[in-house]
Amino acid sequence: MPYIFQLILFNMSMCLFYQNVLCQSKMMKNFLPKENIIPKKHVSSLNLDIQAEEFRKSSKKVTKYESKGLPIVHHYKYVSELPVGHRFAMKKFHGILRYLRQDNVISMKQVVEPCPLDMEKMSGVHTTDYLKKFFNGLTSDNEQRRTGFKWTPGLVERCQYETGGTLLAAQIAHQKGLACSTGGGTHHAFPSYGSGFCLVNDLAIAASQLKEQKLAKKILIVDLDVHQGDGTAFIFQNDLDVFTLSMHCQNNFPLTKQKSDLDIELENFIEDLEYLAILKEHLPHVLNTFRPEFVFYDAGVDPHVNDELGYLNLSDQGLFDRDYYVLKLLASHGIPCATVVGGGYSTNREQLYIRHTIIHRAATKIWNENL
Ligand SMILES: [Zn+2]
Repeated sequence: MPYIFQLILFNMSMCLFYQNVLCQSKMMKNFLPKENIIPKKHVSSLNLDIQAEEFRKSSKKVTKYESKGLPIVHHYKYVSELPVGHRFAMKKFHGILRYLRQDNVISMKQVVEPCPLDMEKMSGVHTTDYLKKFFNGLTSDNEQRRTGFKWTPGLVERCQYETGGTLLAAQIAHQKGLACSTGGGTHHAFPSYGSGFCLVNDLAIAASQLKEQKLAKKILIVDLDVHQGDGTAFIFQNDLDVFTLSMHCQNNFPLTKQKSDLDIELENFIEDLEYLAILKEHLPHVLNTFRPEFVFYDAGVDPHVNDELGYLNLSDQGLFDRDYYVLKLLASHGIPCATVVGGGYSTNREQLYIRHTIIHRAATKIWNENL
């Protein structure tokens, strides 16, 4: 479809939601306080959690997205059991949805549930041998150690739903211009093995599915997690239709980097302004030269100053400005985008959950601004 029509269609779909703008824009003005992004009135309710049963009742399978708000993709099975004290904050996927709801960023009408993706749909990216081993709990101790997880059936199911979620977000974004999952961004998974808390590569699988379903031919993956998207880079290294952009801290995991189509390597401890300036130097050029029809955006929050695995010094506001900049630039080009949450590590779990909602808050603002 010619670019101008894509732009018009995108703007028309945004127009449909114009009536939402007035009431929600008041809320958006002070939704990100500078000092502490936990609104005081919500501190007393920090122990609230989305219970699986409650979520089952209030969510729905999507056949057609009908809400006027930003599409949010979530499933309670994004979460599986982990040993107490595990570094990976598995419950963050519930925590993200909880904060989005209690801060009135979204309503449950906006939340849609993905279906689990089966082995066959993953086989365009992963080897059959690996998928058979992973689905059946036959990966070796060494292979499991590399992923950071001891295998459980729950992990397999979680990956199926999370990957299904990234794909569903992409399918809805293809229609609506923008959609956000509350999970996703498992960019360290390679075709034949998992690594660094990533068991299957949801971004690569969803991108391949989007191509296979002929929803987009040229796809850009913008990966701003603090760690290089090495698995994604490797998977698409010879694919001219998928451009991988990774902006990451150079002195960080993974030790051995792969070659993305564009790697932007950052020095330790850079702050908001410098980070955003570097991003602005590169992203518009990629859009103008590669001309993607669709973008996946990994909005990892591990560049945050308080992240325990990061080594960069971005603030909450810096992350918000980053996300807002990326989404606004894409919207102004009329390029649909699906977002995933990516990495984020902190023993202060509540702060981490809130930090992960920054992308959904920025996306809501973009959605409501009607460009
Ligand atoms: Zn990361």
